Parts: sequence; structure tokens; C-alpha cells
Amino acid sequence: MMDLLIPDKTHDESRQGEALMLKAETAKNNGRKLYIESYGCAMNFSDSEIVASILAESGFETTADYSVADVIFINTCSIRENAEQRVRNRLKEFTVAKVKNPGLVVGVLGCMAERLKSKFLEEEKLVDVVVGPDAYRDLPNLINQVDDGQKAVNVLLSREETYADISPVRLNSNGINAFVSIMRGCDNMCSFCVVPFTRGRERSRDPLSIVAECRDLFDRGYREVTLLGQNVDSYKWTSLQPSPKERALEGQIEAGVENDKSLRLGEVGGVNFANLLEMVALIDPDLRVRFSTSHPKDITDEVLYAINKYDNICNYIHLPVQSGNSRILDLMNRTYDREWYINRIDAIRRIIPDCAISTDVITGFCSETDEEHKDTVSMMDYVKYDFAYMFKYSERPGTLAAKRYADDIPEEVKQKRLTEIVAKQQEYSFYRMQARIGRVERVLIEGFSKKSDKDYCGRSDQNAMVIFPVGENYKPGQYVNVLIERSTTATLIGKVIPQTP
Ligand code: SAM
Ligand code: SF4
Repeated sequence: MMDLLIPDKTHDESRQGEALMLKAETAKNNGRKLYIESYGCAMNFSDSEIVASILAESGFETTADYSVADVIFINTCSIRENAEQRVRNRLKEFTVAKVKNPGLVVGVLGCMAERLKSKFLEEEKLVDVVVGPDAYRDLPNLINQVDDGQKAVNVLLSREETYADISPVRLNSNGINAFVSIMRGCDNMCSFCVVPFTRGRERSRDPLSIVAECRDLFDRGYREVTLLGQNVDSYKWTSLQPSPKERALEGQIEAGVENDKSLRLGEVGGVNFANLLEMVALIDPDLRVRFSTSHPKDITDEVLYAINKYDNICNYIHLPVQSGNSRILDLMNRTYDREWYINRIDAIRRIIPDCAISTDVITGFCSETDEEHKDTVSMMDYVKYDFAYMFKYSERPGTLAAKRYADDIPEEVKQKRLTEIVAKQQEYSFYRMQARIGRVERVLIEGFSKKSDKDYCGRSDQNAMVIFPVGENYKPGQYVNVLIERSTTATLIGKVIPQTP
């Protein structure tokens, strides 16, 4: 899904510079340069920042130019076949760099590494290191092994690893929004999905380390955090761990924590996702909190009330439906049906009246009939999503669907259904955008718009991109009120109006 949200991108050199400056005091510069490129979901981009941090501690600098790199890492996605193909094509482009510099280390990280394991080394001769998502702490050792002339593989999955103590180097950052991983892995076993096999069992990260990371980001000028997990609603931290006070006494977390209002919630036993949202929201009213991804089976009214209670928890929920038909949802092992999903949509509309909703849809899943596809279309009519990521079903080796069901919908039928829902979504995106005309949106300025440096862009609370003229009295990282005058299907356009006291 999120390979559309964040198209495959190389890291921007100017932002790399910032990350290096941040790390300069601690790094024991070893004179070697790391180039890291990420594909797939936001979690992968977040993981690349953890990798950069681990290697910065070993003295690596990062570079945005792979031709000058000593180590090239490609952080991969397996979610659909075309995501894997893209990575293989990209690897071919690194061949010239390796011929020029035989000492160059080429590594494959992430989901494809985990899925293919040492087979990757046989299939792609260029590759020296294969590392799964739970083995990044081992990277310095693995690079040493390659320096000694061996190939290296570590694809061990862990039940505990959350990299909680690692402060990520922010790559490609605008200094305003950051991703923060709150959990890893997934226990859901949706039948189409490879993630439980590539990212292992679900585990939640210590809430105190999450709050500490978000607070640090805020103190460094960041104004928006997106809490990441495959199913954030099943976030759970039990009270078996020592309380914040005990840990402060042990010197594990900063002194003064006992007086920290946002941490007190963590002391009353377990922390669920609603509690965590609240803990992060309490850091500062000027820190916006977003999250992804919610799961329809787990999103509770408690979470919805928490969103409604705090102005700085954004009114935006990504709630993947996958299909609007109950039989297909059952085959997908999503563990909810059409009625349940509609019940959750109704709860969102009731508890958070002005909430944007986006979704993921798969067309042409095994045995899906035209009638069943129409149920997906009618779900889109019911919800009128603000935004959707839409995909043709792609069979993934090893998944439950690949084992149990035939991938029997012809490619042209999958495509026809996809084209139909894409057109439908265009209509509803435009409808949602048009509904904002005449309203005033609170926008966090992110920078110049892509098209013109006479305009700024930023996101509204509901996650819509807003464009408005640059002005002397405001700059990126600040909030402004924008009166919306017109829209396209993807963008709101308006002008800044004075803040009301
Ligand atoms: N954990 C999230 C959830 O359950 O909604 C999303 C995980 S996945 C990285 C993102 C999206 O990719 C899914 O919501 C689904 O729509 C899509 N996806 C996953 N496996 C797929 C497959 N085999 N073929 C097509 N799309 C797929
Ligand atoms: Fe995949 Fe389902 Fe887990 Fe999402 S919830 S990552 S779709 S198995």
C-alpha cells in the first residue's frame, strides 16, 4: 500500500547533511560512506533511520550518492510481486559501481531479505549481505565479515526486538514531521499478506521510550509525529515492566520523569493504544499526532474518544477495508465482515464528526465474483473515502491464500475492477475536497509547494495537502489558518487569514 504513499525515493542530499551534523559529535568517523535506499511502507523508511543510526555509531557517514559509497544498502518490500521486481532492477544498476570499486559492500535489508534468506545470495551475485528486519544490530559485524571476504546473512526474527533504545538518525527529514515506530511485526495472518512471515511476531515498544523519542523530536523543532505499526490498535504494553518511577530511580530514563504528566498514565498498569495516544498528545498541544495503520477488527471506541478529546490528535484514520464483501473478507481472514466494518465507520462518524477516512482495497482476490466486487464499490459509496490505496491482488509465495486458493481472476478482470474503483475514488476524493471550500483549516507548514517557491504547502488536520501563498509572518514548522478557496482532487488551495485569539 504505502509504496504509493511514499513513492520509492532516494535520500535528499541536503537532509543527509543535517543528519550527519546531528551525529557528528558522537560518530567515530571511520572514513566509510553508507548509501541507503528504501522501498515499501513507512515502517521501512523508519527502519532505514535505525540502520543509519546503528552504522553512525560504528563511524559511517551517510551519502545520497551511491557512486561514492563504500556500503550500499537497499531496504526492500515484498508486499506485491512488482515491489520485488523493482528492487531486482535497481540492484542491476549497482553493478557498475561494484565493478569500479570491488571493495564495495552491497546489502539487501528488510522484507525481501527475510523472505528469500540465503537464496538471495545465489540469485543475485552482486549481493554480499542479507539482513532481516530484526537483525540490524548485527550489521557492523556482518560488514566486518564481508570485509574479511565472506558473504554474510542474518535473518533471525525476534520476539523482543523493538530497537527501543536506538535514537534514529532522521534521514531525508524536513525537520517537521517524523515517523516513530511503536510496534513491530504482525500476528494477524491475513491470507493474502506476506508481512507476518517477513516481519515476525507482533511486539509493542516500551511506551516510555516512545514518549521520550517524541518529546526529543518536539524539543528539536519537529511538530508532527506519525506513530507506526501494522495494527496500531493492538498496541499493548503490560505492567510487568518496572514503573517509570522505578526506572527513573534505576537511572534508565531521565530524572524528573516523576513529575511528567504525560508519563503518569503509564503507571496505572498496562498501556493500550488509546492510552499511548494520550501520552504522546500530552507532550505539547503544538505536537500533532498521527498514526497508521488501524485495523477494523481492533479499533475501539476508546481510541475514537481519545482522538476526539485532544485537538492535537489528528482527525484522520486509515482503516483498510480490503473488500466490501463478507465472503471475500472471510477468505482473506480479515476476521471482520461487512456489517462490522460499517459499524466501525458509523462509530467514527458519531464520535469524531469531522474525521477523514482513507482505506486500502484489493481487487480480484481469489474467486471474487462481479457481484462481490460490487459490494466493494457500494462500500465506497457508503463511506465516501477521502483517499484510497488500491491494488490488484498479487499472489505471494508462502501465504495462506497461495496455499489454499487459486489465483483465478484473470489479469484483465483484476485491472477492469481496479480501474472502476480508481475512477470511483477520484469522484469521492474530489467530493471531500470540495466540501472544505469556504472553511478555515489549521495547517502545519511543511515547506515550499512542489510547483512553486511562491507557495507553501502543509497538511490540514484531516491530512489534506493545502497550498497557499508564502508570507512574511509565517514559515515552515508553524501553524497557520488557511481559508480554502478552491480544490483539485488531491489539493486544497487558499489564503492565510489572521489567527483568532
Ligand atoms: N497492516 C496494514 C493493514 O492490515 O491494513 C497494511 C499492511 S500492507 C503493508 C498494506 C496493504 O497492502 C494492505 O492493506 C493491502 O491492501 C495491500 N496488500 C497486502 N498484500 C497484498 C497482496 N498480496 N496483493 C495486493 N495487495 C496487497
Ligand atoms: Fe498484513 Fe493483515 Fe498484518 Fe496488515 S494486518 S500486515 S494486511 S497480515
